[in-house]
Amino acid sequence: MIVAKFGGTSLADAQQFEKVGAIIKSDPERRYIVPSAPGKQHDKDEKITDLLLTCHQIVTTGSSCASVFDRIRARYLRIAADLGVNNEKLVSELAIAQERIQGGETRDYAASRGEYLNGLLLAAYLGIPFVDAADVIRFEENGNLDQNETYRLIEEHVMPLHDAVIPGFYGADRKGKVHVFSRGGSDISGALVARGLNADTYENWTDVSGFRTADPRVVPDAKFIQDMTYRELRELSYMGASVLHEDAVFPVRMAGIPTNIRNTNDPLHPGTMIHYSPLRNGVTPIVTGIAGRKGFSTVMIEKDRMNAEVGFGRKVLQVFEECNLNFEHLPTGIDAMCVILPTASLTPHRDEIMDKISKVVSPDQITIHDGLAMVATVGTGMLKQFGTAARLFTAIAEQGISIKTMLQTPTELSMLIGIDEHDLTKAICAIYDAFIRT
Ligand code: ASP
Repeated sequence: MIVAKFGGTSLADAQQFEKVGAIIKSDPERRYIVPSAPGKQHDKDEKITDLLLTCHQIVTTGSSCASVFDRIRARYLRIAADLGVNNEKLVSELAIAQERIQGGETRDYAASRGEYLNGLLLAAYLGIPFVDAADVIRFEENGNLDQNETYRLIEEHVMPLHDAVIPGFYGADRKGKVHVFSRGGSDISGALVARGLNADTYENWTDVSGFRTADPRVVPDAKFIQDMTYRELRELSYMGASVLHEDAVFPVRMAGIPTNIRNTNDPLHPGTMIHYSPLRNGVTPIVTGIAGRKGFSTVMIEKDRMNAEVGFGRKVLQVFEECNLNFEHLPTGIDAMCVILPTASLTPHRDEIMDKISKVVSPDQITIHDGLAMVATVGTGMLKQFGTAARLFTAIAEQGISIKTMLQTPTELSMLIGIDEHDLTKAICAIYDAFIRT
């Protein structure tokens, strides 16, 4: 059995709804459907979620949201009319939503109505039951997800149904107050439903045919990744590859449920299959994907015989902790220690960090270097292969790029290099040519 989540662009208008309907009908295993709110029909269009948030914002200033809400109403009624779906329920639910948002309901409530109304519409179009996510996705009152209770509720309310539509993005606490996930959170709802129902596969239908081996803005013809592991996905997403909400991995990964990223506009394309562990049959590529990010800074602390000073690292890191700063990487030498972190988070604390580190470890010198980019070359296949590092560094050297720092994750899943920001595109292309372009 498959749980299929459809993103906003997959449900942006009646034509897209028809594609979704055909995809669902083409496989009887696709029984539980998790929709997003209607997204953009074209670049200049507005997402329903954004319009709802605008309504909420307008109400907080004491004005009427009627004219913006009219645009929301028109979108839904247009889709219903084009599909020939009876709109009675939709009309009354639209009126309730407008009244409650105008009456001062919370921001989360307003944001959630996009998925709620779209779920009603999709269920009516498909002719299958609608289950309100407020009844099955359980939040604690502080807004954190209550996973165990969510699985119990899904088992109780959804499992007995042969098929159903469960809207994404929101849920409710025990008192019935609506909470939403962060933006793009329907991916999480889909993963929770897949886990709660113990699905064979979690399909995530979007507008791209899966993950690419590199950012297509850098490598325009970058191939799609056919198979990857959840850990590879995490490494790549963390470094900037964004197709799936990062929190959508955890519910399904542990349960061993694969996620399949698919394209609603190209349903025959197999997309990317994300597994718990690497496939045993088939050839595992050495490098699964490459991702890079600009905007890092290095705080370099130098002191002779630093390596002999017990507690040096702890004292330095405590300074970062006191500033509530997360560090990303920590390359060290015998007389120097570097802390790498995003420039944007470091900037407000620059002076404080310099002062405090000077006080606690009395370094010979402390300097901050900005303009660093990190490039991750990710692949479970690197584990089994000799000479991967040599190939990587040769490719970089041939481009005349100097490597400022390098790290291999202890799991040997990913090799990271730090380079000058200006060299980022060149470096990614060189690594792509060395490992992926054949
Ligand atoms: N509609 C919500 C958003 O725009 C959630 C989602 O699409 O996943 O962020």
